[in-house]
Amino acid sequence: MNDLVTLHAPLAGALTAAVRRVLDSGWFILGREVAAFEEAFAAYCGVPHAVGVGNGTDAIELALAGVGAGRGSRVALAANAGGYGTTAVLALGAEPVYVDVDEATATMDPACLDRAGRDGGFDAVLVTHLYGRLADMAALRAVADRHGAAVVEDCAQAHGATRAGRRAGAWGDAAAFSFYPTKNLGALGDAGAVVTADAGVAGRVRRLRQYGWDRKYHQADGPARNSRMDELQAAVLGVKLPHLDDWNARRARVAARYAATVRHPALTLPHVAAGEHVAHLYVLRAADRAARDALAAHLRAAGVPHDVHYPVPDHRQPVHGGRFDALTLPVTERLCAQVLSVPCHPALGDDDVDRVTAALDAFRGAEVTTCTA
Ligand SMILES: *Cc1c(COP(=O)(O)O)cnc(C)c1O
Repeated sequence: MNDLVTLHAPLAGALTAAVRRVLDSGWFILGREVAAFEEAFAAYCGVPHAVGVGNGTDAIELALAGVGAGRGSRVALAANAGGYGTTAVLALGAEPVYVDVDEATATMDPACLDRAGRDGGFDAVLVTHLYGRLADMAALRAVADRHGAAVVEDCAQAHGATRAGRRAGAWGDAAAFSFYPTKNLGALGDAGAVVTADAGVAGRVRRLRQYGWDRKYHQADGPARNSRMDELQAAVLGVKLPHLDDWNARRARVAARYAATVRHPALTLPHVAAGEHVAHLYVLRAADRAARDALAAHLRAAGVPHDVHYPVPDHRQPVHGGRFDALTLPVTERLCAQVLSVPCHPALGDDDVDRVTAALDAFRGAEVTTCTA
């Protein structure tokens, strides 16, 4: 699904020099590399503050804490985004409030959020820009405002996605990024960041990522933790950030090539609007679970990499011990049964895309089903 060796090959010299620079500095945690990357990444996102943290899930948790969520808070979120938001919400001691998604975009449905606000209410909203597509932030923000709730964006799949000149991360009260190696901007290990326009939120996240300290050995805030971006990862990310837009453009061309070439009548292709969608994943839909599973088996036999993002919705995960058994999220549940991802990354050549297309169009297992969308 990814080829990080090919992606990094042209940068080997610059990456090695960056690692060497850190080695020679003798300084490995929260130094000038992290400060420089925080400044560069905040500028890229078009917000004044970025705070480097250990990974994307910590970034979600710290961003939520930064906007005031904590033990007992009700956090609205979608249930089709891989469970990372749920992990963060549960770690906070907060309560997940699952909201259904829009059929066409697979991101949080503003009408469903409004209903959740009128039903049990919520204190904060976590919006995931799933697969690389910016959610409908204007509408979601309006609903959140109406219910007096803060908004946190999960931008782990949407680095650089832009609508009306405004980037992912610049819409909420705070936003979380992951730099897991396969993300659109990835480190050579774990890393994450919280970005925000609010100096107070940034200050709180800076304290909470490091023992609650406001200065060395002074524990001013909590509950805190240790979740810091390290100097090596910051130096690596500083080398890679200038390439992000080019890589996103290549991802968009891969998506466009699939759109122009896949002809299978029983597969629904995603609408990848260049700019607003940075093609983190290219996610097809089959008619139903049986067709999706047959397609996966067909691709496996053809040697074509594929995956399901994601097979089990959050409210059906065993971690809840059946607490959400009575909850039904029809669109989320349908999408989880239908989705299948095929390779979409910047190191993919046109020939690679065409091989995937040929394998998709050769799929015969779905002829008894029909396309619904
Ligand atoms: C990858 C991902 C995360 C988690 O990032 P980690 O750095 O792996 O903790 C969170 N949300 C989404 C949508 C992701 O894809």
